[in-house]
Amino acid sequence: MINKKNHKCIVCGTAYIACNNCNRINNWRAICDTEDHYRIHIMLNEYRTGRMSKEDATAVLTRIGISYPDTWAFLPVVADMLRDILAVSGESVDEVVVDSVEEQPVEQKPKTRGRKKKVEAE
Ligand SMILES: [Zn+2]
Repeated sequence: MINKKNHKCIVCGTAYIACNNCNRINNWRAICDTEDHYRIHIMLNEYRTGRMSKEDATAVLTRIGISYPDTWAFLPVVADMLRDILAVSGESVDEVVVDSVEEQPVEQKPKTRGRKKKVEAE
């Protein structure tokens, strides 16, 4: 019997107790404290590698009961990805590109004329 919190959820960071022998049966207990968090972990892996669309990822989160911006309970790196998935599409801010190139007048250097003093010969 283990009494020490010997695991840390990779999704929310919560320390929890898991028996390594039980992990052989309930595999998800090895990395997450709850089955939902394990589902999120799997979903993020799929989403990150392009195997899952944003719509499908959103559906997984909706089923679990997570909605924007309710991501405070997760590790920052996970929360960032969840917000990215849950952020309403089409709300992306168009960046205004400011044209900062100033036209500088070309400086015209006065032509130096070879003005030679006339030597007055008498
Ligand atoms: Zn967790």
